[in-house]
Amino acid sequence: MESCCATAETRLGAADGRVIAGAGAVLQDLVDFAIESAACRAWRRMAGIPGSVGAAVYGNAGAYGHSLSERVVNVRFHDGREIRTLANEACQFSGIRRVFSKSHKDWIVFSTELLLEPPMRPHCGRPPRTFSKMRNQKFPSP
Ligand SMILES: Cc1cc2nc3c(=O)[nH]c(=O)nc-3n(C[C@H](O)[C@H](O)[C@H](O)COP(=O)(O)OP(=O)(O)OC[C@H]3O[C@@H](n4cnc5c(N)ncnc54)[C@H](O)[C@@H]3O)c2cc1C
Repeated sequence: MESCCATAETRLGAADGRVIAGAGAVLQDLVDFAIESAACRAWRRMAGIPGSVGAAVYGNAGAYGHSLSERVVNVRFHDGREIRTLANEACQFSGIRRVFSKSHKDWIVFSTELLLEPPMRPHCGRPPRTFSKMRNQKFPSP
């Protein structure tokens, strides 16, 4: 079954255990969407990280021992000439040759396809309170 919301580059769509997120989507919306669609444990650790999905791919956003790249299947981007897709390994999310934040800072991320978690365990449907609470204590609102 397929589910989808929003349009264009902010879209979030899930099918077959994967989610495709437009670069303009808010990362927190992706986290919420993934938790609602199927995922849970690792996604909850990403709760509360500010910014867009494109910026999260660029910087390989992460928290509490998890990063987005663990879930990335591929990244669709524009290299200045054409639209291309790179599989996770080719993105080199860690190390000195990180494609998007080191080697090719000018490449524009359009979207990314990510793995959702295995089916939720019973306790996994709860909102990511624990990590949100920890984050709110660390970064209190002004
Ligand atoms: C209070 C606070 C807590 C934070 N906690 C965490 C955390 O726990 N973990 C973590 O990883 N980060 C954390 N961050 C960092 C934050 O997630 C990043 O600053 C975030 O990526 C910024 O998102 P933005 O949409 O404002 O991106 P911008 O500031 O607009 O861009 C950030 C970079 O991404 C590039 N970029 C943006 N979109 C694209 C695109 N489509 N294609 C290619 N490049 C693009 C930009 O060129 C720029 O270099 C925190 C920041 C704050 C302020």
